[in-house]
Amino acid sequence: MMSASSRIPSITKPLVSNRAKKVLDLVEEFVEKECIPAESLFSAELGEGEQRWKTNPAILEQLKTKARKLGLWNLFLPNSSQGAGFTNLEYGLMAEYLGKSKIAPEATNSSAPDTGNMEVLAKYGNAQQKAQWLEPLLEGKIRSAFLMTEPAIASSDAMNIQLEIRREGNEYVLNGSKWWSSGAGDPHCELYLVMGKTDARSLDPYKQQSVVLVPASAPGITVHRMLNVYGYDDAPHGHGDITFTNVRVPLSALILGEGRGFEIIQGRLGPGRIHHAMRAIGAAERAMDWLIARVNDERKRAFGQLLSEQGVILEWIARSRIELDSARLVVLNAAHKMDQGDARSALKEIAESKVLVPQVALSVIDRAVQAYGAAGVSQDTPLANLWALTRTLRIADGPDEVHLQQIGKRENKARRQEVIEKLAWQKEAAGKLLAANGFSMLKSSL
Ligand SMILES: Cc1cc2nc3c(=O)[nH]c(=O)nc-3n(C[C@H](O)[C@H](O)[C@H](O)COP(=O)(O)OP(=O)(O)OC[C@H]3O[C@@H](n4cnc5c(N)ncnc54)[C@H](O)[C@@H]3O)c2cc1C
Repeated sequence: MMSASSRIPSITKPLVSNRAKKVLDLVEEFVEKECIPAESLFSAELGEGEQRWKTNPAILEQLKTKARKLGLWNLFLPNSSQGAGFTNLEYGLMAEYLGKSKIAPEATNSSAPDTGNMEVLAKYGNAQQKAQWLEPLLEGKIRSAFLMTEPAIASSDAMNIQLEIRREGNEYVLNGSKWWSSGAGDPHCELYLVMGKTDARSLDPYKQQSVVLVPASAPGITVHRMLNVYGYDDAPHGHGDITFTNVRVPLSALILGEGRGFEIIQGRLGPGRIHHAMRAIGAAERAMDWLIARVNDERKRAFGQLLSEQGVILEWIARSRIELDSARLVVLNAAHKMDQGDARSALKEIAESKVLVPQVALSVIDRAVQAYGAAGVSQDTPLANLWALTRTLRIADGPDEVHLQQIGKRENKARRQEVIEKLAWQKEAAGKLLAANGFSMLKSSL
């Protein structure tokens, strides 16, 4: 079998160090040989009912120990002395393999939302905040959640965020509601990064929001329930529906400064979106594995033929390969642009990946579901769960429409004048050429 490093797209190979290539191969082996076979045990150890929110499956701890021994720990955090020190592009290649298994990201301490939260603390936290929260997160001892979305407003527009963060003496007092707080169900989740308004009256709407660090056990926090995703509860991780009633934290819990919330989410979401996109490609690659296995299953012939002998099925395989290989290049291009500058300088490329990849991955997973017939929508393959997880990426971290609007606005604004002038010039030049060669002018009114 070809190794992961030999499958790196050739255009990006010169950008990947030998160390990253070696680790990439180790990641592939760890995911395929350790994590995927351990998924059933993970579910069995998680148990049933309420127990699912209290259990820490032993297999996950065993995998963490193995991952650490192999050096597969904190693979994100590009160019940081606290992480493994890979570039966004190198880690992107690894994240693809982590995305093949739902337990691999946590087994390597490289799972959302902790990765984004650790990046915030590493980039914007002060020494005390790093010692209190970043260190145990990097050690994998605790987990965290990022609380931005609220139930009563359209949260895709972050300016709508309402949760009040009021300064009172040497404390901030928090009041409001949050939901879709991913990771809040985990028994190890000890930290919430909460976005809210410190100054609702600021004339600059981008300066109203701030982010504070809140211990999950703080008095006044109520976790009402965990939300389902197409019926999956995603235990023990979970997506919390939470209220804050006069929750008090010291002023030192503020990250970076009052009114810096937008800056923080921008810095957080750039790399996070690349990680999600590459993991989604990995999820779709796993669906491809299952697709190829089913269509070549000798026991399950339809109308006397293997499914792979049907032209339409080969076309599914071909389309899936083309779509995934092209989507991967779009994400790696965004990762490389970030490596050359920062998330801000790669906004367009990150938005392109954010929109393109979930749509491509969903079509690929859906073809695999179809190839399995009824089994494809059941719990007997990972496909239904992969589809549900991937479908949420068209909404989470901002819905497609918001990113499409940004890409469209940017492209239109940057190019309209230049394009109008160029086409007018070309028309005039064409007319002159025709006239110089004795032909009459074009009739088109455009
Ligand atoms: C599985 C999952 C995990 C999540 N995890 C987290 C988390 O950890 N922390 C957190 O804070 N949030 C989380 N979220 C929430 C997610 O980020 C929000 O759902 C998302 O930002 C959209 O906000 P909303 O649900 O309020 O939709 P709304 O803002 O109400 O938007 C509804 C719809 O309106 C349309 N729309 C919006 N803007 C435009 C526009 N400009 N043009 C055209 N149409 C538009 C879109 O179709 C959109 O889907 C998670 C969501 C899911 C599903």
